[in-house]
Amino acid sequence: MENDTLVRLIDYAALREKFQRRLDASNQGMLGEAYYSACLELIDEAPAVDAVELRHAMPVKFYSDPYTNRLFTTCSACDGKIGPKDKWCKHCGARMDGEDGDT
Ligand SMILES: [Zn+2]
Repeated sequence: MENDTLVRLIDYAALREKFQRRLDASNQGMLGEAYYSACLELIDEAPAVDAVELRHAMPVKFYSDPYTNRLFTTCSACDGKIGPKDKWCKHCGARMDGEDGDT
């Protein structure tokens, strides 16, 4: 995977607070103050991405397809038909990690 295609979602407020604390603590050094001020500017200017909250689900109702005899199950979040070993629901995007509900 190319590095420029990676997107890592981080907690903007937590990161900004860390740098703000460093800036507040650097009152005796002009260099530190300039550095942490520049970091805060970079954090504020960082591009945002659209993201949706991760849905969690679990497989329910295992059954065999009467035509192919292959085993299937349904997603607890959307009732879509998925494979028994699928880690993600191909219909609603929920992660099959065993947590209940469609949060
Ligand atoms: Zn689903």
